[in-house]
Amino acid sequence: MKRLNLTAKIFIALILGVIVGIFLHPFKENFYVNKYIVDFIFNFLGNGFIRAIKMVVVPLVFTSLVVGAAGIEDIRKLGRVGFKTLSFYLGTTAIAVSLALGVGSFINIGKGVKVDQIATVNVNTSTSGTSFVDTLLRMIPTNPIESLSKGEMLQVIVFSILCGIAMASLGEKVKNVRKNLEELNKIVLKIVEIIMSFSPYGIFGLIGNTFTNFGIEAFLPLMKYFLVVVLVLALHFIFTYQGMLLFIAKYNPITFVKKFASTMMVAFSTSSSGAALPYSLKTMQESFGVSKGISSFTIPLGSTINMDGTAIMQGVATIFISQIYGAHLGMADFLTIILTATLASIGTAGVPGVGVIMLGMVLTEVGLPLEGIGLVMGIDRFVDMFRTVTNVCGDAVCTLIIAKSEGEELNKDEKRSEKIVENI
Ligand code: ASP
Repeated sequence: MKRLNLTAKIFIALILGVIVGIFLHPFKENFYVNKYIVDFIFNFLGNGFIRAIKMVVVPLVFTSLVVGAAGIEDIRKLGRVGFKTLSFYLGTTAIAVSLALGVGSFINIGKGVKVDQIATVNVNTSTSGTSFVDTLLRMIPTNPIESLSKGEMLQVIVFSILCGIAMASLGEKVKNVRKNLEELNKIVLKIVEIIMSFSPYGIFGLIGNTFTNFGIEAFLPLMKYFLVVVLVLALHFIFTYQGMLLFIAKYNPITFVKKFASTMMVAFSTSSSGAALPYSLKTMQESFGVSKGISSFTIPLGSTINMDGTAIMQGVATIFISQIYGAHLGMADFLTIILTATLASIGTAGVPGVGVIMLGMVLTEVGLPLEGIGLVMGIDRFVDMFRTVTNVCGDAVCTLIIAKSEGEELNKDEKRSEKIVENI
């Protein structure tokens, strides 16, 4: 029998997780199901997998970014790549929210929905406000060891780039350190490969857990909201991303999806851009052929600040909540939402469930009650899965476009990539 590649195995695990979870949901209060299946099997497989991924994120980003930045001889190139990346991230996020506001208003998603039909959830929104200057200031590490140990990604990025620049300018004098870091990077990549080979088990555990706990009945009253978010995510993926790939990067969108499928499924089942980061980075470098210099900057940065899917959810949710409460939003409110959701997505950490808390920032800006968050919270676990896929795809598309614009030759060969993905 032909050996299945990793993407196929992950897909099967995901479907199995959904089926087993839906089947177990009615028995979720059962002592044995809870103790032995949910806690022992799902929890162990799922959380063990997430912990293993977290283990490699910092060493992976640090070593590949230092090595990558040291390889960029021209310091102006770093500035140029940085500027293009930030403009791309902010620009696509603004497009994403605008699309969400347009579709949400056009469909009138909140009209006719009664608050008392929805099981509201009390939320603590105290973490919702982070100022933009604070975010900028927090990028500068005061103690790089602490930043590494706490996994503060923006600080790790700043510190790694500085190390790379210093190494490049010292050249031959530090050639040993550079060689050692290159070797260290190879070791970390090997560890990533080992962890990836366990992904089907981890994903089965995560998805099984979600579906056993939440079931699908939570969807019904919020079906329209859920479908509109997924619709806008799909539109953004097809028109904005695939369009950019086709016309700017001159890259076949189908090949992109095939090569990136396993990373997308990891993003879906973990609901975490941070957890998908090692997959993205490795796939970008080995499967798409993007240099370390570009991908190890754009991918970790994107997984921290670029959240188009989150911004889309915030746009749709704001329209939904405003219509439920009967509040009218004018043009000025729309502009405020675009600006705030773009900033809120920068401040959203790439972990499950933060985006909906950051929604508080947007609601406050347009004068809507924070309790609105409770209305959409019931199904946020599911919405999170879909929006995280968009978040992660946005980083990958940006990386390909920047690499292309810097004259890099992208690998368009599907067969070769299959082999590499299989090796992963
Ligand atoms: N789960 C999302 C991510 O990691 C963030 C969010 O919207 O909650 O990309």
